[in-house]
Amino acid sequence: MASYHTDVLIIGAGIAGLWLHNRLNEQGYHATLIEKNTIGGAQTLSAQGIIHGGSKYALNGLLSNAAVAISEMPQCWHACLAGTGDVDLTQATILTDHQLLWSKNQLAAKMTSFFASKAVRSKMTPVTASERPALFQHPKFKGALYQLNEPVLDIPSVLDCLVTPWQHRIIQCAPNTTFNWQQSNNDIASLTIDKLTITAQQIVLTAGEGNQDLLDSLNIDTPKMQRRPLQMVLCKSQDENKPLPKLYAHSLAAGTKPLATITSHTTKHGETVWYIGGDIAETGVERTEAAQIIAAQTLLSDILPWIDLPKLDWATHHVNRAEPEQSEGSRPDTAFVHSHHNLHITWPTKLALAPDLSDTVIKQLTQAGLTATQQPDIPSPLPIKMGEPLWEFAFT
Ligand SMILES: Cc1cc2nc3c(=O)[nH]c(=O)nc-3n(C[C@H](O)[C@H](O)[C@H](O)COP(=O)(O)OP(=O)(O)OC[C@H]3O[C@@H](n4cnc5c(N)ncnc54)[C@H](O)[C@@H]3O)c2cc1C
Repeated sequence: MASYHTDVLIIGAGIAGLWLHNRLNEQGYHATLIEKNTIGGAQTLSAQGIIHGGSKYALNGLLSNAAVAISEMPQCWHACLAGTGDVDLTQATILTDHQLLWSKNQLAAKMTSFFASKAVRSKMTPVTASERPALFQHPKFKGALYQLNEPVLDIPSVLDCLVTPWQHRIIQCAPNTTFNWQQSNNDIASLTIDKLTITAQQIVLTAGEGNQDLLDSLNIDTPKMQRRPLQMVLCKSQDENKPLPKLYAHSLAAGTKPLATITSHTTKHGETVWYIGGDIAETGVERTEAAQIIAAQTLLSDILPWIDLPKLDWATHHVNRAEPEQSEGSRPDTAFVHSHHNLHITWPTKLALAPDLSDTVIKQLTQAGLTATQQPDIPSPLPIKMGEPLWEFAFT
């Protein structure tokens, strides 16, 4: 049995684990990350890459707690993209620096005055007819169009930036690996996997949906986790001479959630894929794949009636959002950390909140007396496995 020591052991290499791993190692701690499937391959590579600043959560005309908590995030990510932030994302790809919000008809007065209010005015600006992008210049488009100054990022490139500098401190294990914990008093003394016993001062769970199994294996019953399922939709043109236009936009109606949120992603063959979330992904969870595709086709012709779409290939993607349990299964407002002696259980609840989550965890670890030590590298590491972007395999 080999043994290995690290200052902080982090379990689960999605955005939350990778961001924390990167920050702790950059700060001089020895942090090790364990992944048992593929890096980013769960929720993180299912994300649309929108770095929310909260405006999306204000569509009922009110600035909710979520909107306040998340409002700093675009600025924080922008600093990282510019090389002046907590992690170096200078090599990540920005798909767009702003998104659009459109409604087929004029917006209700309540929403228009909210968009004009001081709270959102700097981020959300009306787009005048002469400034409209080509897609919205059609004479049949009679609705409202706003620009939201929050970016959309290419998540695979963000993951590369986070993984590259510290990949020698990532342990890749097999999906069926058994986690054997050794506990002493209330602390976790060590973890044994694959004939390797790992000791750490502090342990952080960032395993998304996998946190539940880890908590069960530790006989810990709080915090509880909730899953909020989605059936996302993907489409791409069958005709390479008539690709889909690039669109990063939310379709608004009277409700508090966008009917559809469309982001555009490029496959390695250069095809543009529309990835569609929003209300249709939430309400379409119980539909068959065929019924969800029909619902999406109907929705697109309703919200973009003036666009002559090419013949499209379609696919759907089922995925759960894993979060701390809320009353009535609602969306949590902020990143979540629950500490249990030297174990910290976390869910970022949004990709955009990964920096906030890391700040909170690092504060807890420092308060718990974390010290930086020098440690040897992982004995005989397996090569790490990066997750594949959805648009590369969803249509096969
Ligand atoms: C369809 C969809 C679209 C979204 N779009 C956006 C968006 O545009 N903007 C935004 O801000 N948020 C978005 N989100 C939310 C965001 O994706 C998640 O909040 C975020 O990715 C969660 O990251 P995570 O690191 O906690 O979890 P995950 O990405 O799920 O990562 C957990 C990792 O832990 C690993 N793991 C599990 N169990 C174990 C174990 N026992 N040992 C080792 N490893 C383990 C998994 O394999 C996985 O790699 C979206 C979510 C979904 C589902």
